[in-house]
Amino acid sequence: MLDYKAPEGGCHLGAFVEVPLGPRKVLGVVWGAGQGNWDINKVRSAYRVLDAAPMRLEMREFLRRAADYTLTPMSAMLRLATRAPGLGDPPSMRKIYRRGEGEPDRVTDARKRVLETLAEYGDLSFTLKELAEMAGVTSSVIKGLVKQNVVAEEDSPRDLPFARLDPLRPSKTLTEDQAAASTYLASEIAGARYGTTLLRGVTGSGKTEVYLEAVAAALKAGRQALVLLPEIALTAEFLKRVEERFGARPAEWHSGATMTERRRIWRMVGQGQAQLVIGARSALFLPYQNLGLIVVDEEHDTSYKQEEGVLYNARDMTVLRASICSAHVVLASATPSLESWANAENGKYKRLDLTSRFGPAVMPTMKTIDMRLDKLPSDRWVSDRLKAEVDKRIALGEQAMLFINRRGYAPITLCRACGHQVGCDDCDARMVEHRFQNRLVCHQCGESKPIPDKCPSCDAEGRMAPVGPGVERLGEEAAKLFPDARIATLSSDMYGSARALKAEIEAIAAGGADIVIGTQLVAKGHNFPNLTLVGVIDADLGLQGSDLRAAERTFQLMRQVAGRAGRAEKPGTALLQTYQPEHPVIRAILAGDEEGFWRAEAAERKQAGVPPYGRMAGIIVSGPDVAQVFDIANELARRDQPLRAIGAQVYGPAPAPIARVRGRHRVRLLVKAGKGVALQAAIARWTSQVQVKGDLRLAVDIDPQSFY
Ligand code: ADP
Ligand code: ZN
Repeated sequence: MLDYKAPEGGCHLGAFVEVPLGPRKVLGVVWGAGQGNWDINKVRSAYRVLDAAPMRLEMREFLRRAADYTLTPMSAMLRLATRAPGLGDPPSMRKIYRRGEGEPDRVTDARKRVLETLAEYGDLSFTLKELAEMAGVTSSVIKGLVKQNVVAEEDSPRDLPFARLDPLRPSKTLTEDQAAASTYLASEIAGARYGTTLLRGVTGSGKTEVYLEAVAAALKAGRQALVLLPEIALTAEFLKRVEERFGARPAEWHSGATMTERRRIWRMVGQGQAQLVIGARSALFLPYQNLGLIVVDEEHDTSYKQEEGVLYNARDMTVLRASICSAHVVLASATPSLESWANAENGKYKRLDLTSRFGPAVMPTMKTIDMRLDKLPSDRWVSDRLKAEVDKRIALGEQAMLFINRRGYAPITLCRACGHQVGCDDCDARMVEHRFQNRLVCHQCGESKPIPDKCPSCDAEGRMAPVGPGVERLGEEAAKLFPDARIATLSSDMYGSARALKAEIEAIAAGGADIVIGTQLVAKGHNFPNLTLVGVIDADLGLQGSDLRAAERTFQLMRQVAGRAGRAEKPGTALLQTYQPEHPVIRAILAGDEEGFWRAEAAERKQAGVPPYGRMAGIIVSGPDVAQVFDIANELARRDQPLRAIGAQVYGPAPAPIARVRGRHRVRLLVKAGKGVALQAAIARWTSQVQVKGDLRLAVDIDPQSFY
């Protein structure tokens, strides 16, 4: 927090101001009166107050508490809350650019890129600068296209309000339990008080239908609503449903939104002229004027945890925000997180269940394929039994999906002469072959290199071999096993953009493939009506490793993947290939006994005193020099008095499971504490004892979700 003199004319509390910081001009927020312990002659003046509504008290309260919870400096929180450019620009007319008519007289590479960019974003428009940057061309290229009318230049008022949504349009006729759930939510929202509801129901049971009615209730009450989705679930199909229900499109906040669109949403949300925002996790930090409802769909999804920069869990921050602005929260999932399940058990959350799939669809039949009985050669992963089932579906004109949660072609590239495995130069990680890109890629830092012919260790020639399956290799196997089938392989890195991937998914849903091969991203919320078989190549994959949530994650993922089968009239089947069919998690998945699974999992976590029955924090110290990193970490471990004072223990230091990323060595400490202790304050006191200087960094992850 820094002190400045108010600009001429004064400023309100919460005002956005432009201030000098060293040689730079930066955005700031007026937080309160100065501290007064300065020399008045040395205090610099704020330049100006921006033409934007001041930050509301409730938003400041939210940021302050979120900062305290996540142990994040306020400056980083403020950046999260102002992630839209040009916030201070006055509202005026400006030129926007969109696709015009016809084709250019002469097609150059640069011109082609402009047209491709415009095509990719459909009917969106851009400012000159945005379009030039996105297409990677100079503005004169665009101006040239404008002269030929191939690109249209228009005057547009900045930041148009969003079209009004009409909550009074007729909804679908709800089933009995859908109606009961939506009536409950509507009355909570009408009461304008904080509350959280866990809305549980198998995929296809109508959770979306129910929470859209909750959105309607919020809009009727004159309040705003926010629906958070995992980024990849923000599909055209979903937006169409919203539009059908309310007669206009909501605001969409996601990583693909243009800068212009972001600024528009930011401003309109603040003026109450965007009633409904559908967005990825950072939409939680928009300056809502009167937020009455927040829905977190697929609330168990790990993408709600931001793992870089500010380490926050959007699901938990949602509950915090709602409690400050008296809004209702709906957490929707077919497979809730154990945290939310436990909060429903202990009465903090209300729980509503939708018990059956809507209409004729029933949950798929689930079976295992015991891979110990198959003597598959080491370069094949589809068992004969799974192949026979896929053949049957193709003969019937239905779709089948093969699921493997591994990107790339092969996870290991091995020298058959000396046993060397190709690793990343900057990380302690193996390079993953991506045959589609014809390179080896590090999944930690993204660095890539050509696939070597010669072993980098022993120089043997022609002995490098891929080991193990990835989604691309599975695609290759499927092409051999099913030569006449149309096969679509879906992996995020095979498509240049999220939009291209979504288009591909829509084409598949419309019947564009017989076999879909995919990673985790196909498990998230897509609807393939003609898909009746899901084959999981390696159901054991997630059960390895020491992650405390390994069982929970596997359970959720397998149920979710299986839920892709039999969404419409035709019943579905899910087949899980496994080497350990008697593993308790695999058995629970088959039995479909979710309550039983959660109770067993809860009992184990309670016993171990880990979340949600205890608290945890991860501390990662990192730096280029391993000795320095360990010095700091060891000092922390030694000076654990502030932690012992609250009864917390510290474990470690130990090299993190991935002990080096981007050339930085990483050392982990883990703090475990009882529930209900002031953990953050103790950690702040504890870490302030050491000096983290120069290239060293110390990151605190409260409630860590991943332990890499
Ligand atoms: P979930 O969100 O639980 O996966 P959805 O809300 O997407 O379920 O519902 C699954 C499908 O069933 C959707 O196509 C939806 O339109 C349809 N559906 C659900 N409830 C109804 C209803 N009461 N009337 C008509 N269609 C419904
Ligand atoms: Zn790397």
